[in-house]
Amino acid sequence: MIDNQQQIAAARKKAAEGGRLSIDDALALYEDNDLLFLADCARRAKERASGRSVYYTVNRHINLTNICSSNCPLCAFQVEEGDARGYVLETDDIARILDDAKKVRNLSEIHIVSALHPSKPFSYYVDVVKQVKAALPEADCKAFTPVEVVNFSKMTGKSVREVLEILKDAGLDSLPGGGAEILSDRVRQIICPKKATAAEWETTMRTAHSLGIRTNASMMYGHIETVRERFEHLATLRAIQDDTQGFQAFMLFPFHPAHTKPSAPGKTSR
Ligand code: SF4
Repeated sequence: MIDNQQQIAAARKKAAEGGRLSIDDALALYEDNDLLFLADCARRAKERASGRSVYYTVNRHINLTNICSSNCPLCAFQVEEGDARGYVLETDDIARILDDAKKVRNLSEIHIVSALHPSKPFSYYVDVVKQVKAALPEADCKAFTPVEVVNFSKMTGKSVREVLEILKDAGLDSLPGGGAEILSDRVRQIICPKKATAAEWETTMRTAHSLGIRTNASMMYGHIETVRERFEHLATLRAIQDDTQGFQAFMLFPFHPAHTKPSAPGKTSR
């Protein structure tokens, strides 16, 4: 117990001084459970990084389809091809959304995330990017998570780098951070076994950053992951950011079990 208290005290000191926390430090602070102390440390870290300014985007989302071949147990959005609830947005549908988006004051981004449609060709997605850019050249076209980019690569036989280069030439500016869930293949085998692996997600992000494509990062928590796996996930994101400086924002999504497969929900443990 004394060891544990010493570890917590050392982690608190490091956090208060703005030091670089290890996964064990983070576990000690989790055990300590002092939210206001952590909030104060986080606030000071934020101000060291970007002063007192805060930033936001005004965006419109386009979800091109809900028909997906991945069938992830965690998902409440996907339907199978042939399901009456399935939809795919075509050029006219997208044009209507973009016409509405043009009326939004200070619009800064069009955000596109979709499912892994079993038969839509890569050219469909390239054309969507061109359509967005032609309609709203000033808005950031933020489209396709690493999971989708890896799927394009598998569909076309092109490398992830080639896929991203084609999308960038079409007008893609940045990538959303989705599909990260928890970057642990143990977890992914249970909640999304057919989706891009943790390594594929990371490689896609690093490749995008190397091409000058900035991205978001994300984490979906509160299902079957352990607390240590959460911190390992954050450490992976931090290592990527150390190397590339390519992440623009970090999104944290709590897992909502309603309408997901019964095998997905579980209890987070230490
Ligand atoms: S890839 Fe995405 S849309 Fe498809 S089932 Fe998995 S979470 Fe749902």
